[in-house]
Amino acid sequence: MSVQLTGIGVSRGIAIGKAHILQRGDLEVLEYSIPAHLIDDEIQRFRRALEIARGQLSAIRSRIPPNTRADIVEFIDAHILMLEDSTLTVAPEHLIVHHQCNAEWALKLQRDALVSVFEAMDDAYLRMRKDDIDHVVTRIQRTLINQHHEPEDGVDARLSDHILLADELTPADAVLMQHQGVAAFVTEYGGPLSHTAIIARSLRIPAIVGVRNIRRFLKDEELIIVDGQRGVIIADADQRTLDYYHELAEKEQRQQRALRKLKGAPAITSDDQLIELQANIELLDDVTAVLASGATGVGLYRTEFLYMNREDTPDETEQLKCYAEVIKKLHGLPLTIRTLDLGADKEVDSGHTSGRMATNPALGLRAIRLCLRNLSLFRPQLRAILRASALGPVKLMVPMLSNSQELMQVLELITETRRDLERDGLAFDPDMPVGGMIEVPAAALSADFFAAHLDFLSIGTNDLIQYTLAIDRIDDEVNYLYDPMHPAVLQLIHRVIVAGANADIPVSMCGEMAGDPQYTRLLLGLGLRNFSMLPSTLLEVKSIITRSDTKRLRPLTEELLLEYEPTRIGKLLERIATI
Ligand code: PEP
Ligand code: MG
Repeated sequence: MSVQLTGIGVSRGIAIGKAHILQRGDLEVLEYSIPAHLIDDEIQRFRRALEIARGQLSAIRSRIPPNTRADIVEFIDAHILMLEDSTLTVAPEHLIVHHQCNAEWALKLQRDALVSVFEAMDDAYLRMRKDDIDHVVTRIQRTLINQHHEPEDGVDARLSDHILLADELTPADAVLMQHQGVAAFVTEYGGPLSHTAIIARSLRIPAIVGVRNIRRFLKDEELIIVDGQRGVIIADADQRTLDYYHELAEKEQRQQRALRKLKGAPAITSDDQLIELQANIELLDDVTAVLASGATGVGLYRTEFLYMNREDTPDETEQLKCYAEVIKKLHGLPLTIRTLDLGADKEVDSGHTSGRMATNPALGLRAIRLCLRNLSLFRPQLRAILRASALGPVKLMVPMLSNSQELMQVLELITETRRDLERDGLAFDPDMPVGGMIEVPAAALSADFFAAHLDFLSIGTNDLIQYTLAIDRIDDEVNYLYDPMHPAVLQLIHRVIVAGANADIPVSMCGEMAGDPQYTRLLLGLGLRNFSMLPSTLLEVKSIITRSDTKRLRPLTEELLLEYEPTRIGKLLERIATI
């Protein structure tokens, strides 16, 4: 009889293959005392373990293929840096001396102390940093207790086409997996925003997380099925189930091939509405995927990645060079450059801010608030973006606007920057469109005002949902409340779209909701005509658009806006999906 297990599907796709259980064994760290005359030897043993851990990570780092996404590389670099940090290198030595204890125990004491500091900060982002500490500490501990099974060259041929079952996946594991052709993975821990999930989506490998004890239920080398979308794992499947999933996997591949044919086609609804489908990028490298997806431009270029993981700030010249490269690679497609959105979920280095730890970072000095407080940070970026507008079709977009004073201040600064550039004899496009992101409920409610003063609006649903529903977007504990379908969210979105139409300016959406095929028809019905999303979902959204009739969708979505009762919402959604 087949066995079915469920978890959280974090990366879609079907995989059918043999299980490979990564049995790293639970670490049992014991305490024992070290006689005074052997303390120096114990410290040497600890230092050797650190050296080995550094060597392992450097070896993995050096084998990262050139096309690996920057976020994975950054995770590994962060771990290498942690192995140089005195909190993990010097402090445990002091503890060995102070407690006259073994290195493993000293490291465990130090890990517990560090983690309790992070937990006391009560910030979801920092809780993710706690995972980093655990990954690094576990690596050292395994070396100390001789339990490290990583193959010398990092390549384990047994993993090819296998489905990896692990407790959790570290960024280093992910890089190894990329070499080894793993078909899918399932982990016992982690949530939709864990490293594991981010990496799986980056690598486009089907993945399910949070399946407690899976390694106890399944056997090595047994044939299993992973459905990354539904979060289901099936073992001991009968022939009928296997046939069904083989067919489903083939259907998916066929769909992907068929979708690729849509690349050059315009996104037109069956009632002849032309829809703009643009892409979101963070790095120059992402432009390759934008071009492959057939996007008509970049609707969101998150520039904060230029500022991360460094102590200094990129100056005007460095930024201009970087924007110029993106413009060149886009071959004439429009580029919407968003001004800095540092803070909250985007890691901030103290070099760019006051260094003060905010109590509620998402409600604190982030994005445009930070830029207006720190003009020496903002002005060079405004100059660089304006100068980039002389090189190609560039738009400037301001994140997190919440009131009229902020908007007026930004517009005044842009006017001043234009004057300065003129005075300096530097080229720019005097008609460069300036738009604002609507991500704060207050801004959505005052969308008429913003629409009257800007050239375009873009709805940032990731933040708009977080602020409307009062849930931290990166906190696993309240993830179940993150609901794009909440009537309050839909009403705010609708209000912004209507404000844009009344002012005759375009309204786009660049939050994750725009790229989720399950909301495409709903958004069309609400009047959205410009979408910006990850390139990977663009063709699927386009295919839905070509099969949709906005005239028929409109009355149904308007009905939905006034509906609070879940069963009736469900019924309306069903009609929206099938009409
Ligand atoms: C958003 O908030 O929806 C958005 C696109 O911005 P970010 O995710 O970068 O905060
Ligand atoms: Mg945002």
